[in-house]
This record gives sequence, structure tokens and C-alpha cells, in this order.
Amino acid sequence: MAERPDLEYFVPILDRELSRVDIVSVLVKKPVVLRMCVQGDLNTNLAGKRITSVARRGHFILFSFEAAPIQVAVSPMLAGRFAIAKNAKTQPKDLAIAFTLSDGRELRYRDDVQMGKVYVFPAGKFEFVPGLSAIGLDALDAKVFTKKAFATLAKSRRDQLKVFLMDKTAIDSMGNAYADEALFEAGLHPKTFVRSLDDEGIERLRKGIVCVLDRARKELVKRAPPTDVKLRDFLKVRNRTGAPCSRCGTKIRTAGVHGHDAFFCPSCQPETRATSIVDWTKLSR
Ligand SMILES: [Zn+2]
Repeated sequence: MAERPDLEYFVPILDRELSRVDIVSVLVKKPVVLRMCVQGDLNTNLAGKRITSVARRGHFILFSFEAAPIQVAVSPMLAGRFAIAKNAKTQPKDLAIAFTLSDGRELRYRDDVQMGKVYVFPAGKFEFVPGLSAIGLDALDAKVFTKKAFATLAKSRRDQLKVFLMDKTAIDSMGNAYADEALFEAGLHPKTFVRSLDDEGIERLRKGIVCVLDRARKELVKRAPPTDVKLRDFLKVRNRTGAPCSRCGTKIRTAGVHGHDAFFCPSCQPETRATSIVDWTKLSR
């Protein structure tokens, strides 16, 4: 999925390129991605409307329009991506929705696995879209993601670290990749139970989250990939099974944690005996 650093990078580009541009027409090529929560089809709702802003809200890309009582929220999931095409003559096979713009360009939403979802809903009614109203702590806002706020959040959790970090109602827009990276940065095993961490461990995790998100955000801005390219080659553990750990040389491994896969270094992120004892005691209550 598009995670926080990806969104931080490409949403402002979409906003800059698309704000104050009119939509001429909309062509839905893969209706399976569409979730209409208003009457009429997408073209009827959007043809002739002006885009006023493109913004991030949680892991969604949120489009707003002038004089239109609707908004569009896109959750790209695994493979959804946006591209702005200057020459719209040849359309890619994975094109899901094409928005023809008044300046001759085409905004394309592409999704070759069609797992992403495009919600069209009454403006401001975030409750119409699953996951759009309850957004977790913003890890890149230093005023929000404080030592105290994160410690309070962590101490309320009974789950394992990987599951905790993936919960978007807890932390804003972390997904599989950056959850693994944050745990590597903090030297914590993905199966560790949150409640087994002491204050120092919780703070190390908070700093790890901020560090990997901020580093990735800066890397993407520096390298400026096209908006439809998900650049992840700088990650240290995610999708690197069998490769040597950049810190200690041990081979990176994977583990299943409650339906999620987690990549980690078994030396830098040891599964401690103390952790398992605490887990069993608390689970059996
Ligand atoms: Zn290591």
C-alpha cells in the first residue's frame, strides 16, 4: 500500500498539478474498484466540476471539488497508483479510471490487481468510508506524536508490535513496509507484545517510527520518482529475506504475525525469553 512517506511525496504533487483544473469527463474501465455512496454514476457526478484540492487523510487520497456536494477518497491498497498523462492516446492495460482534464491531460488511476478502492461519497461525510473517520496519531507531527502520547497509546495495547504498528486507528498510515523498518530501527522483534515493553523500549519504538518515516520522506523528495512508481529500494529489512543485515550481516528472516508477514534481523531484533514469559502469563488471564 501507499504508506505515509509515499503519500507525503506524491499527494502534494497531485495537489499542485490538479488544483483549479476542470474535469471534462470520467471513464471507468474497471468498475470493481468503485464504491458509489451517492446517486448517479461517476461521470455524471464529476463532469464539468473543478478540482479544488488533493489532500491526504490517513492512508486515503482525498479529492475535493468546487460546487459539488461530493468528495472522492482513494485507498490504493497494494498496487493502486496515480499518473498524469500528457498524451492520452495509448492507455495502459491496468487503467482503472481515466479523468479527462480541461487542459488536455488525463489523470489516470491504475491498479493491476484491482484491490484499491475509489469511494465517492457526500462531502465531509467521512463515516461513509471505512477507515476514513478514525485516524491514528500522526507520527510526523512532533506536537502530536509526543513521548507522553505514544506511551499512553502503547500502554493501552494488548497486541504484538507488528499488529499494533499496522493499526491505522492507532498510528496514521503505517503499513507493512514501514512497520518492519521501524521495528528494525528500534531493535525490537515483530512478535514482541507491546505490554512487555518498558518505558525505554516504548520510547525507542517511537523514535524508530519517526526516524524511518522522516528518512523515507526525505529520500523520496530527493530522488523524485514518477508519482506512479513506488520507490522502496532503500529499505533495510522489508522484502530482503536471506540478504545480509546492513548492521550485523545476519540473514534477514520473515515471520508470520497474525496474518501479516514481518521481515526482521534475528540478531538485531532478538525474540527474548522474558517477552514470551510475560506474554503467556498475560494471555492466560
Ligand atoms: Zn542485524
